[in-house]
Amino acid sequence: MFIVLLGAPGSGKGTAGKIIAEDLKLAHISTGDLFRENLKNETELGKEAKEYMDKGELVPDKVTIKMLKDRLNSDDVENGAVLDGFPRTGVQAVSLDKMLGEMNAKVDMALNIDVPFEEIVERIANRRSCKNCGEIYNVVFNPPKQEGICDKCGGELYQREDQKPEVVENRLKVYSETAEELINHYKNAGVLYDAKAGDAVGKTSYDVAKEVEEYIKNK
Ligand code: AMP
Repeated sequence: MFIVLLGAPGSGKGTAGKIIAEDLKLAHISTGDLFRENLKNETELGKEAKEYMDKGELVPDKVTIKMLKDRLNSDDVENGAVLDGFPRTGVQAVSLDKMLGEMNAKVDMALNIDVPFEEIVERIANRRSCKNCGEIYNVVFNPPKQEGICDKCGGELYQREDQKPEVVENRLKVYSETAEELINHYKNAGVLYDAKAGDAVGKTSYDVAKEVEEYIKNK
């Protein structure tokens, strides 16, 4: 089973995706994490991606598609995967269909997590990430036990360059430019699932994950 996570940066798709992947025994593939790993290890790919990431721009399709293709070939993808942050353009969506087709698979579900932009800006401003393991905290709703220190590994927490307000604004603009095309792509394929989150009901990423699992179970 392959599940694609749509939704703006900061919509909580990463957190929901990790829960779904773990519960359904699927690999969790985040292209943002893959790029950040390359950046940390100072690989050529990392150096190439950095200039785009720091500005909140998309890394060119060719580079991103190749990286994803390599990742899809790993053993842990045998049962399928939750794809977090890919596809982000129409070209990526078409090439994903092709790559999965070659594996005799397809996108079974595209989960669109809809959160109002005002809320996203606030959420991202409050976000801190662990320099070591990448764990994400919200200083208001999900603070670490000790300020500035990761609960999981003791690493140092920081605000990522692309979580700064001016970059967040650009990331949301970039997202808006391609969101409709992607949503339509999966609507036409009959696999779009809309989950509203961040509304007055206060639905969390956890709630979204459980709702999706329930839906899949009953399908
Ligand atoms: P994320 O953590 O998913 O928000 O990704 C962080 C950054 O990595 C993005 O702002 C882009 O610069 C880059 N990135 C991640 N996924 C993609 C993708 N599918 N296509 C192009 N760039 C991407």
